[in-house]
Amino acid sequence: MFAVTVAFEYLVSSYLIVGLLLVFGLWLYYDRRDSRYYDRRRRRRCFHCVKCGHLYSSNKAGQKINCTECGFANPPLRF
Ligand SMILES: [Zn+2]
Repeated sequence: MFAVTVAFEYLVSSYLIVGLLLVFGLWLYYDRRDSRYYDRRRRRRCFHCVKCGHLYSSNKAGQKINCTECGFANPPLRF
């Protein structure tokens, strides 16, 4: 009878630990995924082409990015 009680407590506690580890792992996964997604969006800059008037955005590095419509190199908009 004592062995059954200890086994049951061990089973319940291991079930709780596995559940908590699963929730913690999912939390870490989705938190890192969302932070990567928002970092990518935050690094995006807006450009306004002075030649054709097209508005476009890019997350490429560099001072001037070529327009997607006409290819003219424009500096990023500053607010
Ligand atoms: Zn253009």
